[in-house]
Amino acid sequence: MHYIRRMKLQFHPFDLQFIHPFTVSVHSRTTTPIVILQLEHEGIVGLGESSMPPYLGETQQSVMRFLSKIRLEHFHNPFAIEEILSYVDAIDDGNNAAKAGFDIALHDLVGKLKNQSIGELYGIKPEQKKTSFTIGIDSPEKMALKAREGMEMGFEILKIKLGTNYDQEILDRIFEIWNGPFSVDANQGWNNKEQALDMTLQLAEKGVLFIEQPFLFDHLTDATWLSERSPVPIVADESIKRLVQLEAIQNAFSGINVKLMKSTGISEAYRMIIEAKKAGLKVVTGCMAESSCAVGAMSHLSSLADWTDLDGPFLMKNDPFQGMTLSDGCIQVSGLNGIGVALKN
Ligand code: MG
Repeated sequence: MHYIRRMKLQFHPFDLQFIHPFTVSVHSRTTTPIVILQLEHEGIVGLGESSMPPYLGETQQSVMRFLSKIRLEHFHNPFAIEEILSYVDAIDDGNNAAKAGFDIALHDLVGKLKNQSIGELYGIKPEQKKTSFTIGIDSPEKMALKAREGMEMGFEILKIKLGTNYDQEILDRIFEIWNGPFSVDANQGWNNKEQALDMTLQLAEKGVLFIEQPFLFDHLTDATWLSERSPVPIVADESIKRLVQLEAIQNAFSGINVKLMKSTGISEAYRMIIEAKKAGLKVVTGCMAESSCAVGAMSHLSSLADWTDLDGPFLMKNDPFQGMTLSDGCIQVSGLNGIGVALKN
């Protein structure tokens, strides 16, 4: 009798612990929830991760509820990636992080079965890209200390979070110790376009690489106004999650930050990068508060990007995966196939 081995999906919740409490303009926390996925076929296990920053609405419970609905019985093997992912996407609306976790596990599995890295699955030539190190909101003194920590860890680019009512003091303190490349992320925290332009011009003089999400996600008129006047790229983050939104925002910004947890995974992130570049936009490959599983997966797309912001695992005390390191300011994964990381024992 002919017997076909089915794919088998398992998952469990895990809490990542931050080295420092993590604050963006609207929220602060010391841990962040993820779900770890294992997708098995013929004894080979693909690893995945869903990461759910609390302000985006998904939880460990909602992710596991979604993953429980995935029925893989009618797929005989994992190689029909697009067909399987279309089926998963259609199960329910939203659930972007849950879908991303599954997409990552599927890519890791197929890479391992084919003896190829995720980059090789997409025909992407690997290229070392220096990643930035994020300085979360804190007192100006503590933010300058974090910048120094990042330098000591080997990062060569900073991403400075702004969007407070003391942005100028933050910058003054950080520039006392930092004169290397940097970008700024206002996380929707600026609400006056004239002040935003003043700050943008000042940052441009300091050599800022780009400014991310100055205004609320749906304030596209203000973003357009600023983009038209800014000498540096204004990059969308909260204003774009999936490919379908690209057309609506592409005239308001000059770049987009692509993240697996927004895009529903590698497959759509890849298409977003290609379409954004066709539209003349700059691309940042970014991450949420994630371990080296999801970040390692995204690092395979980074040679397509203009800038890379993949520091998540370096902000954590208890990364459950191993195999990813920082070398000369660049993310490096082991020579293993798929993502190139393994679960720690
Ligand atoms: Mg951002």
